[in-house]
Amino acid sequence: MFIVMASPECAPVAKAGGLGDFVQGLGRELSVRGNAVEIVLPKYDALRFAGISGMHKVYRDLWVPFHDKAIHCDVEYGEVDGLQCFFIDAHSEHGFFNRGKIYGDADDADRFAFFSRAVMEFLYKSGRRPDIIHCNDWHTGLMPVLLWEVYAELGMDHSRVCYSLHNMGHQGWTGPQVLHMNRLDAGRLMTPERLRDPGNPGAVNLMKGGIVFSNFVTTVSPRYAWEIQHTDQGMGLQGVLQEHDRKFGGVLNGIDYNTWNPEIDPHIPAQYGPDTLPEKAKCRAALRQRVGLGDAFKPIVAVVSRLDKQKGVELIRHGIYYALEQGCQFVLLGSAPDPAVDADFRRIKHEMDANPDCHLELGYDEDLAHLIYAGADMILIPSIYEPCGLTQMIAMKYGCVPVARRVGGLADTVFDANYSDRPFEDRNGYVFDDFTYAGLEGALGRGIGLWKRFPEYFRQLRVNGMRQDHSWNEPGQHYLDIYNHIRV
Ligand code: ADP
Repeated sequence: MFIVMASPECAPVAKAGGLGDFVQGLGRELSVRGNAVEIVLPKYDALRFAGISGMHKVYRDLWVPFHDKAIHCDVEYGEVDGLQCFFIDAHSEHGFFNRGKIYGDADDADRFAFFSRAVMEFLYKSGRRPDIIHCNDWHTGLMPVLLWEVYAELGMDHSRVCYSLHNMGHQGWTGPQVLHMNRLDAGRLMTPERLRDPGNPGAVNLMKGGIVFSNFVTTVSPRYAWEIQHTDQGMGLQGVLQEHDRKFGGVLNGIDYNTWNPEIDPHIPAQYGPDTLPEKAKCRAALRQRVGLGDAFKPIVAVVSRLDKQKGVELIRHGIYYALEQGCQFVLLGSAPDPAVDADFRRIKHEMDANPDCHLELGYDEDLAHLIYAGADMILIPSIYEPCGLTQMIAMKYGCVPVARRVGGLADTVFDANYSDRPFEDRNGYVFDDFTYAGLEGALGRGIGLWKRFPEYFRQLRVNGMRQDHSWNEPGQHYLDIYNHIRV
């Protein structure tokens, strides 16, 4: 099967969060199974170019329609971890992909609406006729609209679209200018059954366009699929998802065990698995040394996260003080897009300067993330909502026990040591329901208590998590089944 994946992210060259891991991991799984997989990304100036090999121009002079003109683009090709990637290089005064970052500008909707158009134009002009176009999140929501409104008539009527929702908190709310700039018929498309936002009749909702115009829609865990149809987690699109229920389902993400596996991970000082768990102590020592924690007989509680409201920043902050009070060490790696949150955590970092039991690293650091998963004993994930969450699955593979709120993909993957109705070998962490200090303390307190008083049980909990299979094997097959279901 010929599959094109279009996305604003692909790890490790353009990654802001789990979407980057998704594209890399699923892309690789589909390739290994013998499918032809091509990934199309913007050529950001902020790409990690070191991760791309053999970058060269493969398509010159792609003129992408833009209002009543066209923008000149080139397309470059390079391999990312063996994956075939194409990068759209746009030459215009807007500098759409030259912002020193992936997201976060006022014209993001225009930038990615343009990207969507450029990908479709590239596929069309280069003669590519994929069986499946796999689009992701609001950034590429306009692609299926463009396929069925423009390119099908030009001969691309063989392709079918699978559209994955990674986060309903960002839907691409914007104005009709994204339709005008793509020469789409705003009168036809700005209707309640097409792209009009359900909550704001003047706004275009790009994610809604993706849902309505795709052949199949997935989201990244079964629990989140239910939550976004039946609770306010749908952020206004519950009705649309219910209406399109027959082509909608949740597929739990995998993680890429080539990247996230302590048995082969080159980022950590000692490799280990469930049968060689004592080696983890070397990673714990290296982590302490790397972040300046004292050498003490204390569990290390960690956070690796975007410090976004979604991730439960109030409870993360409280978790720091609670863990220290309970005699733990705490290490946090996080980047905060919101300046107020950033300032708050910088203040705590400053306050903890002289504390040998606490370290906050504010920024994005792939290497340190690996060492934290390997060195820490527990990871705190108190999200308000969590579509899938990769950190708990990565942490479990490294024998680091998750303490998580029971929402979305966390509810599908973390099973409480004490209260789960699953057999003991499935239990792998601690969960809580209430988004309160007491809720967090209850779960984290039980984890700390087990570490201190029943180390053998705590070790068993680590091993249970390490032995669970969250590879892309099963989800990869699930996506192939979906592709086969919709392909012509
Ligand atoms: P989201 O996609 O909402 O950010 P996920 O749990 O799905 O959350 O994925 C997070 C991914 O990003 C994981 O691979 C995690 O290790 C990584 N990550 C998050 N914050 C950082 C950071 N500050 N530095 C390095 N990696 C990070």
